[in-house]
Amino acid sequence: MSMVQRNIILLGAPGAGKGTQSERLVADYGIPQISTGDILRNERKIQSDLGKEAAEYMDSGRLVPDELVIRMVEKRLAQDDCAGGFILDGFPRTVEQADKLAEMLQKSGKTLSAVINIVVAEDILAKRLLGRRKCPGCGANYNVFFSPPKATEQCDSCGAGLEQRKDDNEETIRQRFEVYQKQTQPLVDYYRSRGVYAEIDGEKPVEEIYARVRQEVERLCGKV
Ligand code: AMP
Repeated sequence: MSMVQRNIILLGAPGAGKGTQSERLVADYGIPQISTGDILRNERKIQSDLGKEAAEYMDSGRLVPDELVIRMVEKRLAQDDCAGGFILDGFPRTVEQADKLAEMLQKSGKTLSAVINIVVAEDILAKRLLGRRKCPGCGANYNVFFSPPKATEQCDSCGAGLEQRKDDNEETIRQRFEVYQKQTQPLVDYYRSRGVYAEIDGEKPVEEIYARVRQEVERLCGKV
C-alpha cells in the first residue's frame, strides 16, 4: 500500500507564526505538529531531567544542545501518528540538526516533502513576541498590541489571567534573533539546494498566509 506522506518543516524566526500556521495544517491534514519548544516547555513543567537541563538555555534565548533535541525528535517521529506525515515547528534549527533529521528519515524510508519559510521583518517580530499572551485555561492566544483581550490581561472566553512566555522579554528576544541569524538562517540555502523549499510573506493577514502555505504544501507534497 502506498500512502501519501506530508513530511513538512516550518521554518521562520521566533514570532513568524509557525505555531499559528501549524494549528491550521493539523486541522486540515490530520498530521501532528511537533514543536520542540512546546515539548521542552512541557518537560520543564513536569520537572524532568531533560526539562531541568534545558531551562537555562531557554531562559537566556540560546539553543538547547543538539544531541538533546535530536534524541527528543527521533522518539517523537517514531510514534504511529507520524506515519502519514508531520509538521516540524522549531526543528531543525542548526545544520547539525538538519543533517541528523535527514539520517533519521532515511533510516525509516521517509523523505522530506516541504520546507516552508515564513518571512517577517525583525521589528514586526519583536512586537509580536513582546505582545504575545496565552490563556493557561483554554489555550486562547492574544496579542496586547494586535489582538488584545477586552479586559486587561484576562481571557475573553474563560476569564483566566493571561500568561506571557518567560523568554518573551526584550533582552532574550534580542538573543533569540541573533541565534536565529547565526545558526538557523543557513538552513535556507541548505533546503533551497535540495529542491523542497518555499518562501512565504508572513506579514500578511493570517488567513492569507495560510492560503499560501496550503498552496505550497499541495505543490510540494502533491495532492491526495
Ligand atoms: P520556541 O518555542 O520554538 O521559540 O523555542 C523556545 C526555546 O526552546 C528556544 O529558544 C530554545 O532554547 C529551545 N529550543 C526549541 N527548539 C529547539 C531546537 N530545535 N534546538 C535547540 N533548542 C531549541
